[in-house]
This record gives sequence, C-alpha cells and structure tokens, in this order.
Amino acid sequence: MRGLLIFAALIVVALCRESFEGHQVLRITAKDETQISLLKELSEVEELQLDFWTEPAHPTLPVDVRVPSQSLQMVENYLDSNNIHYSVMIKNLQAFLDEEQQEMFRARAGQPKNTDAYDYANYHTLTEIYSFMDMLVAENPNLVSKIVIGKSYEGRPLNVLKFSTGGSNRPGIWIDTGIHSREWVTPASGTWFAKKIVTGYGSDPSMTAILDKMDIFLEIVTNPDGYHYTHTSNRMWRKTRKPNPGSSCVGVDPNRNWDAGFGGPGASGSPCSETYRGPRAHSESEVKSIVDFVTSHGNLKAFVSIHSYSQMLLYPYGYTRTPVKDQQELHDLAKKAITELASLYGTRYRYGSIINTIYQASGGTIDWTYNQGIKYSYTFELRDTGRYGFILPASQIIPTAQETWLALMAIMEHTNANTL
Ligand SMILES: [Zn+2]
Repeated sequence: MRGLLIFAALIVVALCRESFEGHQVLRITAKDETQISLLKELSEVEELQLDFWTEPAHPTLPVDVRVPSQSLQMVENYLDSNNIHYSVMIKNLQAFLDEEQQEMFRARAGQPKNTDAYDYANYHTLTEIYSFMDMLVAENPNLVSKIVIGKSYEGRPLNVLKFSTGGSNRPGIWIDTGIHSREWVTPASGTWFAKKIVTGYGSDPSMTAILDKMDIFLEIVTNPDGYHYTHTSNRMWRKTRKPNPGSSCVGVDPNRNWDAGFGGPGASGSPCSETYRGPRAHSESEVKSIVDFVTSHGNLKAFVSIHSYSQMLLYPYGYTRTPVKDQQELHDLAKKAITELASLYGTRYRYGSIINTIYQASGGTIDWTYNQGIKYSYTFELRDTGRYGFILPASQIIPTAQETWLALMAIMEHTNANTL
C-alpha cells in the first residue's frame, strides 16, 4: 500500500514538472583557444536551448553542457565537423532526476521533532529547511536567532541565521549557500553547518574562540524562489524568478548582478541567458538585501559564498586581471583550506583567483564584498567534478559538508586570528 501511495505521489509531482527525458549532458574537451571560441559561438545559439553547466573558458577545463534531445543531432554534428572531442556524461538526465525524487520520497519520514532528528543526509524542500531554522533557533535561544534581511521577488522571507554569544555589532563572518538554486548540495551543506556551529560552541575550542569574539551569519537558502521552483517545476533552474519585461525568459543570474565590474565581459545582456546580469546592478532583491545588510553591518571580516560544482576555492577578482592587494595572503589561506579539506576524503580542489582559475566573470558576489573592504572573500564550488554535476546523490551530502567544514574552519580561524 505504501509503495502504491509513493508511486501515486510521484506521478502527481512528475506531471507538473518540466521533463528532461532524452536530455544528455555532454562533456566537451576543447584542445585549444580556437575550439573554445567555437564553443562560445555554440553557446550563443538560443534556438538550441543549451544549458552550459560549466562555461567554455580555457582548454584545461572541460565544458559540460545539457543538450535537449531535439538539439542533440545538431550539436553532435557541429562538434564532429569541428573536430572537437566530447563524451556523454549523462545519457538521460530524466532518469537521474527520477532516481533523485524516489530517494527523497523514500527518505521522507514526516516532520522531525527537533534538529537532532533532522535528516541531514537527504535533500529537503524549502518549507522543511525553513522549519529546521525555526527549530534550531527555538532550541538555542541564547546562541541562534533568525534575521529577515528582506523578501524575495515572490515575497518569501530571506532568512539569515545569526550565531552570536553577545556584544553589539561584533566583527562578523558571512556564509551563504543556495544562491544558484539548482546547486542543491550547497543548502544541504549549509543546514549541516548550522548544526555543526551549535554543537561546536562550548565543545570545540576553535569554534568557541571564534564565537567568543565574532558573530557568524548564515543564509542557507539565498534564492528561495528559485529553490522552490527546482522542487516544483524545473530541477535545472539557476536564476532568480523575476520576470524580465519584454522577454518571455524569466530570472537574473544573482552571481552576475553585483556592482563590481557590472555589465563587463563574463556576463550576458540577454534575459534568456543563464548568466543574464539583470537590467542594473542590485536589481534583484535577493542580492540587494545582502548588499543592504553588509553595508549597514559595516563590520564583516569574511564573506564566503558557496556554489557547486567543480571543486574549487576561489578569491577575487573575477571581473579584472588586476590582482587584489591581498592576493598572497588569500592565496596562501586558500591553499591551507583546500589541504585541510582534502585531508578527510582526499577530495582535490583547484584554487586561485576567479579570473585565473575559471574565467572572467563580471558582477560577482565576492568581487563586490572584497571591494567593500571584506578581505577574506571566497567562493567555493563544492563536489563533484562532473560525474553527477548538480544531481549529486544525497549519499554525498554529509561527506561534502564535513570536508567543506574543514576548509571553512581554516578560513574562519585565520579571520579570527587577524581580527582585533
Ligand atoms: Zn553557482
């Protein structure tokens, strides 16, 4: 009977969702700059409706692209005729998504009574994550509070957990996850971090030392409209959900919308692009709310924005080749952080400035925060390197969170040691 109910529930859910039946994810390896240029041209053909999971950047980095079934033949012909090598990374995306849904339903055990009973090893809906936050606050009133920094386009609260042991406007550390909504492992990790901070205070000397001097702010679902949409309608949604006047395409890339090289190369002016920068800097309330928070707080010392996938730890800049003035320190700290990360399960990360490690990207979060004077500004790209991409199996959530935590602690400890 239960099996039948689950089956029926899956059917109902599946009917409302965009299907990715027959969509393939190709891994393309360009051998030189000419082939990179050819891939960039390919990415601009809107009719093909390609979804670049990783953008064409330079020959050392593979390009992963989701190709709808009706475009597959054309794309393969294009690659073959230009002698560009590729392989099939995911043969039928919908089969992966079906598996992911079944896993979520199988794991669903009703509302947990408290945060100890919360299922950290599975993906959760927005409602479930929001009620997790409320439970954590209720259980730890002297350590955790919830701040609403604004509202999303669709009117959802932008909730930030504040971990504080007192004082007024202490120096702060900011962490956000889920700004790109399809990167599900990031809010799942953020939830785990929240619990880790609470259990660490008073038992882990390092966490205790940090919280005795600094506050930690954690925005687990930074793009709630997008996140909700990935559960109800389109698992592959990345952007915000604000309509674009004059276009049928919805949403802005909230990691191209910041006032740091805004409108420059490495962001798109086309509303249909996955990297659409928006009509103006800070046009998205999900971005503007953080901007206002950072500005009015005025005392943040570290800002860590967490994405997936490709296993990288990056520091500014993305919009310009000019190195940041703290380049050496940020580089050394990144190296230390990824070494710590690798010590747990051997997961290997690349690291460096955004522009040198991946590509030029303008209007990015941490370029803006660095320019605001937040020295320790970093971006993570969590697991994996493309086997599953955005559809990372739930069995990898806890290992991902655990290893990332070691890198985060390295950054937070260093920040604490260098803050008066
Ligand atoms: Zn991202």
